[in-house]
Amino acid sequence: MDDTSSNIPPAWAADVLGDVVISAEVLNARVRELGAAIAADYADDPPLLVGVLKGAMMFMTDLARATELAVDMDFMAVSSYGSATQSSGIVRIVKDLEADLTGRHVLVVEDIVDSGLTLNYLRKYLLARSPKSVEVCALLLKEGEQRVSLDLRYVGFTIPPTFVVGYGLDVAEKYRNLSGIFTYVGPGSH
Ligand code: 5GP
Repeated sequence: MDDTSSNIPPAWAADVLGDVVISAEVLNARVRELGAAIAADYADDPPLLVGVLKGAMMFMTDLARATELAVDMDFMAVSSYGSATQSSGIVRIVKDLEADLTGRHVLVVEDIVDSGLTLNYLRKYLLARSPKSVEVCALLLKEGEQRVSLDLRYVGFTIPPTFVVGYGLDVAEKYRNLSGIFTYVGPGSH
């Protein structure tokens, strides 16, 4: 495989994808950098990584392997979008954490921050459980008007405000298994 191969949408999804936004190679390099930064920052007290399902699943597993510390891992599932491509602002907890957060450093691992409503809700929810700290590692931050003030300790990439899929991000549960991140243009656009 040459190093530009993941810039090309794969044949099975090419009819709904636009341009590559972040190739698999660039993603992997950045995830390794984030893991190194987390390992340095939390060397004395490894965090509990809280992955937000399902979108952050690919990022969470790669980030955890890139973080050379004895981290704990847990997952939450929230629903904020349904199958539409517009933020509803309504956040529902579909799966709660199993870990006890008392006195722990918590690092929320998010796929993408758009309006910030989901994260704002999650942060308040986690802070109510007496952790030592709650910080956020977001793979993607969308440029534009975040509707709440955000305090993101780690951000992988800032991207333009277009709808993207791949590397965990879906449209109606599909395209999560793309290795890179692409714009979604939908059927009939080519
Ligand atoms: P927010 O609450 O910040 O507006 O939205 C956050 C959630 O919306 C993300 O966790 C993700 O599930 C979804 N989301 C926001 N932008 C996109 C996008 O471009 N593509 C996909 N697939 N999901 C998105």
